[in-house]
Amino acid sequence: VLRMESVRKTFGDSVVLRDVDLEVAPHTVTALIGASGSGKSTLLRCANLLEEIDDGAIWLDDEEITDPRVDQDAVRRRIGVVFQAYNLFPHMTVLDNITLAPRRVHGVSREEAEARARELLERLGLGEKADAYPDRLSGGQQQRVAIARALAVRPRLLLFDEITAALDPELVGEVLTVVRDLKDDGMTMVLATHEMGFARDVADQVCFLDSGVVLERGTAEQVFGDPQQERTQRFLRRIV
Ligand code: ATP
Ligand code: MG
Repeated sequence: VLRMESVRKTFGDSVVLRDVDLEVAPHTVTALIGASGSGKSTLLRCANLLEEIDDGAIWLDDEEITDPRVDQDAVRRRIGVVFQAYNLFPHMTVLDNITLAPRRVHGVSREEAEARARELLERLGLGEKADAYPDRLSGGQQQRVAIARALAVRPRLLLFDEITAALDPELVGEVLTVVRDLKDDGMTMVLATHEMGFARDVADQVCFLDSGVVLERGTAEQVFGDPQQERTQRFLRRIV
């Protein structure tokens, strides 16, 4: 679904991603782990064309999306993104938050968009909240609405950046359950996370980033159970 080849990203003098290769197979979950500043968010932003890469190439399915001739908006429409801060529109109801992009960007009728939004809300355990405003929801509920909004356009790929980082610990579980359910439904996801237990549990592929380099990758079992690199071992020891 997603492929990165020798991706390099710099900000001024600092190299934030070096020679990053990444391959994300359909219906799999890839977890990006690594210390703060190791480049996880930047990698996700490059994948969504929010950042321009300096070198290398990125493919979404068979299309090279880093080709300058590509329609970037069309690419972004195929990728759902959820960030740490939920960024819901505060002056809009939950339903309007979810139906905005399908209606405005994808030309879906209001009826169809709302029907689909209600179905998503139901699935995410928020059936009652369609007409509520975001400030009346808990953090976990807001984040689930943000996920519903990302799903509303039927994306090919979901990118999640620390989607539980802003949540109270007791609300983390409900959001992670949603991710697990999406996995069971066959969604393809890449997530940056500090939740190692969750990454271990849900990820098919784990990539450990260290100073912009994918230092180690493998199945969750390999990376968590038997890390080969000394730096990975040290990182995991510090975290768990
Ligand atoms: P965290 O776990 O804290 O979210 P991260 O792994 O997501 O960290 P990034 O946010 O990708 O790390 O940052 C990687 C490096 O790139 C950091 O050194 C950061 O300071 C730098 N960086 C990120 N965005 C910019 C920017 N817009 N301009 C300059 N430097 C940036
Ligand atoms: Mg980050």
